[in-house]
Amino acid sequence: MANDKSLVQLLFIGAAGTVTGSKTLLQTHKHKLLIDCGLFQGSKSERKLNKLKKLPFNPSELDGIILTHGHLDHSGFLPVLVKKGFTGPVYATTPSRDITGVILQDSAHIQEEDAREANRKRSEGSKPLKPLYRQKHVNRTMDLFQTYGDNEWVQLDDDVRFRFHKSGHILGSALVELEVEGHRFVFSGDLGQREPLILDGPTTLPEADYIIMEATYGDKLHDNSVSPYQALEEVVKHTFEKGGNLVIPSFAVERAQEIILILNNLMDEKSIPALPIYLDSPMGSGITEIFQRHRDWHNLSEAECDSLTKNVHIIGSFEETLNVLNADGPKSKIIIAGSGMATGGRVLYYLKQLVGDSKNTVLLVGHQAAGTRGHQLSSGAATTEIEGEEFEVKAEISQIGSLSAHADQGDLLWWLGKFERPPKRVFLNHGEEAATRALKKLIEDTYHFPVTVAERNRIYPL
Ligand SMILES: [Zn+2]
Repeated sequence: MANDKSLVQLLFIGAAGTVTGSKTLLQTHKHKLLIDCGLFQGSKSERKLNKLKKLPFNPSELDGIILTHGHLDHSGFLPVLVKKGFTGPVYATTPSRDITGVILQDSAHIQEEDAREANRKRSEGSKPLKPLYRQKHVNRTMDLFQTYGDNEWVQLDDDVRFRFHKSGHILGSALVELEVEGHRFVFSGDLGQREPLILDGPTTLPEADYIIMEATYGDKLHDNSVSPYQALEEVVKHTFEKGGNLVIPSFAVERAQEIILILNNLMDEKSIPALPIYLDSPMGSGITEIFQRHRDWHNLSEAECDSLTKNVHIIGSFEETLNVLNADGPKSKIIIAGSGMATGGRVLYYLKQLVGDSKNTVLLVGHQAAGTRGHQLSSGAATTEIEGEEFEVKAEISQIGSLSAHADQGDLLWWLGKFERPPKRVFLNHGEEAATRALKKLIEDTYHFPVTVAERNRIYPL
């Protein structure tokens, strides 16, 4: 039985039927590798999955974890596995390790705060809730990282080797080409657009036996009718003419840097007035430093890379936040603050101050998921409740659809079409049901490849 190839199997533990909690177990008679180790972040029932006592594998038996990129939904469960006995290596690109470090520290902080808050509200005498993990577990996790460059083979033993290829999603993000006991797998991780703003597009590969592919935008095309440059130019000019402030809720990774780059370029060419830019996101400034450390991993020129901090006021403490709107200088200010869908973070402070005045503009960037405040605002809500207080929405609400870190349906199909020989099977994960269903049909109709939509906790023998 030792050579029975059917003993290779895949198990999708997360990001099956949903876009968070990415974890895929690849198991043979000799090996157990986990590809990504993400936190579930969606609905309450989904987040509950982070707290399951029993995992479908024993963390201490894993040979290693291969990380495609640093986003929380791909890396945020690592400290839980470390708590449960995982001591093996975590393989990642160098920027991914650095981004993961910033993201996990922030995540541990939030877990600790949430547990404290929940315990404060609990009746006396009830057993205190523990955070999912703490700072010390993050520190132990970071000690396990082994980092590699783009395109560099990593030989684990006679039967297993893999390498990372740039995937165009965020800084350091990679797809994984993995050979195990004669089978070649490609795990796409999250794929970027074909032509991202500041990165190389996703690497295409000629062949694979099995392709495990994300389907986040499997049923959607991005609205690229207005370029992000045009959109930002119009919004900034208009807000300046009104004498108001522009507040941009933004993700800390990639999005904040893209917006700063565009604003600086527009100011350099004098297309918009030179207004002060504030980046109020402690995590965002950490990520900007990582951009400046890893210049091989993006397309910014030296000058552009330096400008990510040069013309930007970086706000650290909340005391500084309180001073931003009254700071000297032009009346109009541009404020970029987390979180990206205005569900929490520093941006709430600015919304409270600014959303009630029609002079101001709130610019939403990228997809705003249903149920978020960003979505509510983009749908034209007349009021919004922030931290228990009701606010009238009088500020102008604008939106840019074209800045996305994800490949859309056309990009996904293009990437898959670059394989020169048909794979034995394509597995679709990391997508809501409608997205995976639409993409499966499109792939079958276009390329006639066999496609399986991954189901959570189902074992697929190969
Ligand atoms: Zn991602």
